[in-house]
Amino acid sequence: MVNQSYPRVEINLQYFKENVEAAVKRCAEYGIKVSGVIKGTTGIPECAKMFQEGGVFGIASSRLEQIEDAKNYGVDLPMLLLRVPMHSEVDEVVRLCDMSLNSEVSTLELLDRAAAKQGKIHKVIIMADLGDLREGYWDKDEMVQVACHVENELSNLHLAGVGTNLGCYGSIEATADKLDELVEIAERIEAEIGRELEIISGGGTTSFPRVLLGDMPKRINHLRMGEGIILARDLDVFFGLDMSFMHQDTYTLKAEVIEVKDKPSHPVGKISIDAFGHTPEYVDRGIRKRALLGIGKVDYGSIDEIFPKDKGVEVIGASSDHTILDIEDAEREFKPGDIVSFGINYASLVYVTNCRNVQIVFV
Ligand SMILES: *Cc1c(COP(=O)(O)O)cnc(C)c1O
Repeated sequence: MVNQSYPRVEINLQYFKENVEAAVKRCAEYGIKVSGVIKGTTGIPECAKMFQEGGVFGIASSRLEQIEDAKNYGVDLPMLLLRVPMHSEVDEVVRLCDMSLNSEVSTLELLDRAAAKQGKIHKVIIMADLGDLREGYWDKDEMVQVACHVENELSNLHLAGVGTNLGCYGSIEATADKLDELVEIAERIEAEIGRELEIISGGGTTSFPRVLLGDMPKRINHLRMGEGIILARDLDVFFGLDMSFMHQDTYTLKAEVIEVKDKPSHPVGKISIDAFGHTPEYVDRGIRKRALLGIGKVDYGSIDEIFPKDKGVEVIGASSDHTILDIEDAEREFKPGDIVSFGINYASLVYVTNCRNVQIVFV
């Protein structure tokens, strides 16, 4: 294995744990349990462990291999699969997860059979689509019917409750009204099956504002939270919430300077296409001091999703393995071998933690 120190992402596990504790505490005040979502950080088991130490009710991911890694690392909490299962993975879902989110009766029937084979009872949450238009039942009569089918006929499944997801595809806000709709559906099902559902799962980070602003419908008792704990950034940047009770610098991306030169800011010659087949606008700002870094789009996705910590430093472009900084107005000098630090967001987090070329370092 190549032993390189950079690029790297540094993860402050103490900050991570404190963020978990802060979110769990806020939610507990409203009787809400939290499943810590590890997919944003690519299921890094050390992070899953911090979710556990911070007091979450369970661990959740869209991907089975991440759940398996967490279990192998010694995280022993109820495991929830977030992405509705593929038919081809039902055996593994039952083997690895205590519970899954579901929206297809054919899949529920396969899960029931897989659970029978393994001598287990698998818990399911039936998903309602309230307008965000990703997974879940749009037809709520059908949803109630399927819930009754699970309750009455699929004896190796346990109908744990209902859930919804908002703010992922359709950008629909998790308002109190939307979540009231979910509670209404839950109560329709409860009336049919003659018992209370244990879980009414009100969404992910985008539903956390209801807790912070104090207008979460009473019966919502579960959230599946990743970003709002891991980075605590989106609710601040996009919803204007005060997230100062959490650390927003748990992750730091670091890359190494490999070249520093004064160069024209406009390419010289006949303009055609860049490394990805596009022709960006190049602004002519004359000769400027630039630094080249040993990190590229393959490592973090897009230059719009990384944020230099140095004042006066601007990311002006990148190709697969190189990133170009304008450092003309920087407040410090840069030379080859120097390290540049960046804050990241969810879009770059999913890349940097999932990239073989980026070292993961715990601090
Ligand atoms: C990813 C996901 C979540 C958690 O999302 P965050 O924004 O990281 O909190 C919750 N529920 C489902 C179904 C998901 O796919």
